[in-house]
Amino acid sequence: MPDDAARREGGADRRFATRVTRAGRSHAKDRHFVNPPVVRGSTVLHPSCADRVAASRRRMDQAMVYGLLGTPTHHALEDTIAEIEGGTRCQLVSSGLAACTVPLLAFLSAGEHCLVPDSVYGPTRHFCDAMLSRLGIETSYYLPTIGAEGLGKLMRPNTRALFLESPGSHTFEVQDVPALAAVARARGARVLMDNTWGIHFFQPFRHGVDVSIQALTKYVGGHSDVLLGSITTDAEDTWERVRSTATALGQYASSDDCWLALRGARTLAVRLNAQMAAGLRIARWFAARSEVLRVLHPALPGAPGHELWTRDFTGAPSLFGVVFRPEIAAESVAAMLDSLTLFGIGASWGGYESLALPTTGTIRRSLDPALGGPAARFHIGLEDPDDLIADLEQAFALLRLD
Ligand SMILES: *Cc1c(COP(=O)(O)O)cnc(C)c1O
Repeated sequence: MPDDAARREGGADRRFATRVTRAGRSHAKDRHFVNPPVVRGSTVLHPSCADRVAASRRRMDQAMVYGLLGTPTHHALEDTIAEIEGGTRCQLVSSGLAACTVPLLAFLSAGEHCLVPDSVYGPTRHFCDAMLSRLGIETSYYLPTIGAEGLGKLMRPNTRALFLESPGSHTFEVQDVPALAAVARARGARVLMDNTWGIHFFQPFRHGVDVSIQALTKYVGGHSDVLLGSITTDAEDTWERVRSTATALGQYASSDDCWLALRGARTLAVRLNAQMAAGLRIARWFAARSEVLRVLHPALPGAPGHELWTRDFTGAPSLFGVVFRPEIAAESVAAMLDSLTLFGIGASWGGYESLALPTTGTIRRSLDPALGGPAARFHIGLEDPDDLIADLEQAFALLRLD
């Protein structure tokens, strides 16, 4: 789509690192500062009453109508995210969680049914159980590694949405997105995907996804100082539903946060590459330790989902799981994590700092993920991997095999 490519300014034929420095910068063509300004505002002034009416007819577009519908700062980030995701239009919302909930509300009505992977991000699950059910929308949780045939059996005449999250952000099951999307589309259901882990490395619209969700809080923000979500589409009918639902709900992202996310996006390519390399190196270190049963990193040969990852992804970020041998108590794993000095203990990921989080006992599932031992999730930041490995070496001394 040359028009979209031109609008986004990234240049469709260029490589990712180049595109991500150029996207959303059409303002800079004519003697301007490198970055767009932070535009804060509610009221937009119009030259005439007729102009105001004309502008409000363009509420699906990047027209300046009212602050809630976006400012030039929002438009620059929207174009940049559409470029990263390979879509045409992007809606910014207040958090990654809102980016999950708004599309579910956009495409589901009372009496309808949605299919959600059992590995889904916990708060998305809570939304389905606590809110969708109150609205008369039923959710079924399916095994994330299900195939087309199995999914076909779970589809009902009133199934209107298939939710995907690949891989799951705690247990890292990779999904066969094209096969599952084809089943849903053939039966008239929309395919909504939380693509936060796959940012840039998984191009959702080439694999049958209708709506791609990002927690920009993670790698795009990149500095653990912003909460923001995006919903990207590549077709006008899905766009109109998403846009009108987000505005009906009063969804808004602050201009300052959009500007910070835009600043993060400019270094996304180098950070992703550096973190991918460090993450893989440390994942291999874990895999070589006798205390470790399995490493849940789809890019590691032999790891669960590695074949699908090889087929569908062009890289991997630095978030993965580690399953310890069953003889090791979950308490020993917690003590080991407590003794790390370079890894913070905390939720979220995608920042420049390394993090660790116990998984055992903290995730809710309908179907047992059968990990085989106590588990933890690691996010590798931008510290020197040699220092991170030294820190892990000293902490592992606390893991007694008894
Ligand atoms: C963090 C996360 C979210 C939610 O993002 P917030 O901005 O923290 O609300 C959604 N999905 C996945 C996979 C996440 O990791």
